[in-house]
Amino acid sequence: MPVLSRVFPRWLALALAVAAVPMTSSMAPSPSAWAAASPDNLPPEIAAHFTPEDVARGRTYTHGRYWLFVAGTLLRLALLSFLVLTPASAALRNLAVRLAPAHPALAVAAYIALLAVAFEILTLPLGYYAGFVREHAFGLSTQTAGTWLLDRAKGAAISVALAVLLGSLLALLWRRYPGRWVLPAWVLGGLVVVVLVALAPVVIDPLFNTIRPLRDSALRDRALALADRAGLAVEQVYEADASRRTKKGNAYFTGLGATKRIVLYDNLVARSDPAAVELVLAHEMGHWTHAHIWKGIGLALAGLAVLLWCGARVLAWAAERRAFHLTGPADIAGLPLFLLVLFVLNLVGLPIQNAVSRRFERQADRTSLELTGNPAAFIRAEVDLARSNLADLNPPRWIVQLLYTHPPVAERIRMADAFAAAASPPPPR
Ligand SMILES: [Zn+2]
Repeated sequence: MPVLSRVFPRWLALALAVAAVPMTSSMAPSPSAWAAASPDNLPPEIAAHFTPEDVARGRTYTHGRYWLFVAGTLLRLALLSFLVLTPASAALRNLAVRLAPAHPALAVAAYIALLAVAFEILTLPLGYYAGFVREHAFGLSTQTAGTWLLDRAKGAAISVALAVLLGSLLALLWRRYPGRWVLPAWVLGGLVVVVLVALAPVVIDPLFNTIRPLRDSALRDRALALADRAGLAVEQVYEADASRRTKKGNAYFTGLGATKRIVLYDNLVARSDPAAVELVLAHEMGHWTHAHIWKGIGLALAGLAVLLWCGARVLAWAAERRAFHLTGPADIAGLPLFLLVLFVLNLVGLPIQNAVSRRFERQADRTSLELTGNPAAFIRAEVDLARSNLADLNPPRWIVQLLYTHPPVAERIRMADAFAAAASPPPPR
């Protein structure tokens, strides 16, 4: 989810359980992993299609990304824990009340805004290193520091606004339905997820990219013919000017109902051969035919129910204990504790979410092969994306299970090889 993950700060995304990965999905291999692979145990598919330099470069890049995931997680845990274990949150609440003494709702909004802005500022240095400095060091970024910061500022503005809106609604439910707010919060959260998924392609994505109908008419004709074969009512395929940000190639399927669409990165269109781009399109159509967005939303709502229920139990427990400096279970100063519970549970559930995501990706891969009958182009697309995106070509199994939203490159190539072998059985002896 290239755009959504930039727009929502992790803690807000968690609060929404927007974590369902397939809301937008890409054919690009997951970049988040590390490897300690020795050249000796390289999968044969990797040895056949990549050079040792490809392997080494991908490993260096992804190894660092793994440690950055650990650092980002620890930073957020530390920030939330600090607010939970010290009187800082209560002090911030007191400050917000002094800012709007006669208006409790306004004081709540001020508290959330202060908290959200503080989070944005405190996570900025790590974000700058991971998203700008390091991407440049590996020759992947095409941004200046100025345009990177502008992106970040836009994302932060949206995050803070959403946090204030959703947090205020949550606080209202806490006050109005003491002990019984989980169900209304779940219904509200579900509506918010559906609305955001439906609106993101037309409201949020255009804030970061120019998204317009695919200009390459030959490719568009191929795409529409492919959609026809898949039985999908696709009238248009879009391209995003991602090249002003990155050299990485990607494509994604996003939206709901009338906003449902496939978007290709312009740098993917420019670089690859048309048959390989067609495979990427067919993969995204696979997500469409399998209704992965709706299934993802369903799973997110199931997860949200668990998160809200656990969050409510912990808040009620903490309200009884002076160590947490709360005036009651509806005290907005309890928000960091609530978010901490959500954060930890989400982390624990990450391997499950990623297993579901990998399953969806395998289904989309399978559909792309069936639709095109072109495993050779599938492999070319996969190799091209893995090389340009510096994928980890030989990730350890446990890293895949923990962090990978997509099957590793070798597995995807193996699937195409198996498809090719089944399509053309060896001649009789
Ligand atoms: Zn996908």
